[in-house]
Amino acid sequence: MATGSRYVPIQISQMQALLEHDMGFQRADESTSWEAIWSRQVATKGGRTFPYTVKVYSSVDLRTNVSRDSGEDAIRLVLKDDVTGYAVKAAEKRVFRTKSALVNLRERARELFQEVVAGPHCPKCGALMKARRGGPGNHWFLGCSHYNPDKSWHCTGTRRVSELSVDQKVAFGIPTDTTS
Ligand SMILES: [Zn+2]
Repeated sequence: MATGSRYVPIQISQMQALLEHDMGFQRADESTSWEAIWSRQVATKGGRTFPYTVKVYSSVDLRTNVSRDSGEDAIRLVLKDDVTGYAVKAAEKRVFRTKSALVNLRERARELFQEVVAGPHCPKCGALMKARRGGPGNHWFLGCSHYNPDKSWHCTGTRRVSELSVDQKVAFGIPTDTTS
């Protein structure tokens, strides 16, 4: 392992300074946790609120107020869907506790906020979309991530692939020559 990637302990005060004072996070429910957890709902500058929360599992032990040095442990960032209660698995990120951990943590958190704000969003409910195929010709389309007929939050919103930029098609794993 290179010198620059050695484990560096992180104090709870450093987490507070970054997450609470700089980035507007608040402490989350830690009643069943050994570690300090912060969360912040995603909102744009214009005041529009999206039903998503970024949660930071800090690896800071609540008994010692310093990060626990246990091998491969990392700081984990999870994007939680506030409507379904599920984590958006594809969006999970890890930050290793090296010298640049706090800089990297800020960066990864910003990426998650940006991912939600950038969309594209469901025209019906505002949730994030997923790439799907179906219908006659098995064509590509975007379907609402809240599509689940068994749930009260079920949503059937769709968008056409032709609304996407080339970069967005790549991000969704849709062939860039798709025009439907
Ligand atoms: Zn929807």
